[in-house]
Amino acid sequence: MDLTIHHARLDGAEQIISLGITDGKIVAIQETDLPPGEVAIEANGAMVSPAFVDPHFHLENALLSGAANLSGTLREAINIYAGIKADMSRENIVGRAAQALRMAIANGTLWMRNNVDIDQIARLRLLDAICEACDKFAGVIDVQVVAFPQLGLARNPEAVDLMWQAMARGATVVGGMPHGERDMDDAARHIEIAFEIAKAHNADVDMHVDETDDPYWHTLELLADKTIEMGYQGRVTAGHCCAHGCVGQRPCGAGDREGAAGPGQHLHEFAGEPAASRAG
Ligand SMILES: [Zn+2]
Repeated sequence: MDLTIHHARLDGAEQIISLGITDGKIVAIQETDLPPGEVAIEANGAMVSPAFVDPHFHLENALLSGAANLSGTLREAINIYAGIKADMSRENIVGRAAQALRMAIANGTLWMRNNVDIDQIARLRLLDAICEACDKFAGVIDVQVVAFPQLGLARNPEAVDLMWQAMARGATVVGGMPHGERDMDDAARHIEIAFEIAKAHNADVDMHVDETDDPYWHTLELLADKTIEMGYQGRVTAGHCCAHGCVGQRPCGAGDREGAAGPGQHLHEFAGEPAASRAG
């Protein structure tokens, strides 16, 4: 066998087992020990598990130190970060992202979906730096890069243009943040634009949705409707969805369109397998 792992434990099981792997596939799991393979690892009773998938990350923000967020709000975090990202050097971004990737790999994460800000401040600088960092770990960790228009699309033609460029230049998933727009009409336009770009690139969609306690924002419904309209079921992920937890504070008849997950869940996946697991 190519690889054997000795005296390991499966999650939730007490008995000690040994594992054998050939051609990348597990071919033996047994309680009696195996002869050592070409590479043999002594687990000493530690747990073995499949590699982890991190479905939501922001590498360019990793390991940043700097201004404190005094209000603790998302809006202040975005404003602080707008000032920081304008001045970050490529070397700084690549260095921190590479360190974060190394930590992820060392802790068992081999798939990651990573958001990169695409806007008039960052332009494509963050994207280029993150792609450079990911290239250093090609073949070890599989990173999907989400083009994330954090500063809006509906009234921001420059950001729309940059999103198209980002998808032609290394990003593989279209992101979004419709509740960052001025109102629900602009949020609908934001989602419309994102799907135009996704369709043209045959790309999946993964949005930051309703990341607020304000029940005014219910863009999750718009995203669900658009997903169905475009036949994109199974290819769209909605993250955060915090306002869904306040849904009882406003009239709402559309909750049953929003997938099987209930209020307060961090990620909604519209009728399909987790998108990050389809990396490859
Ligand atoms: Zn995020």
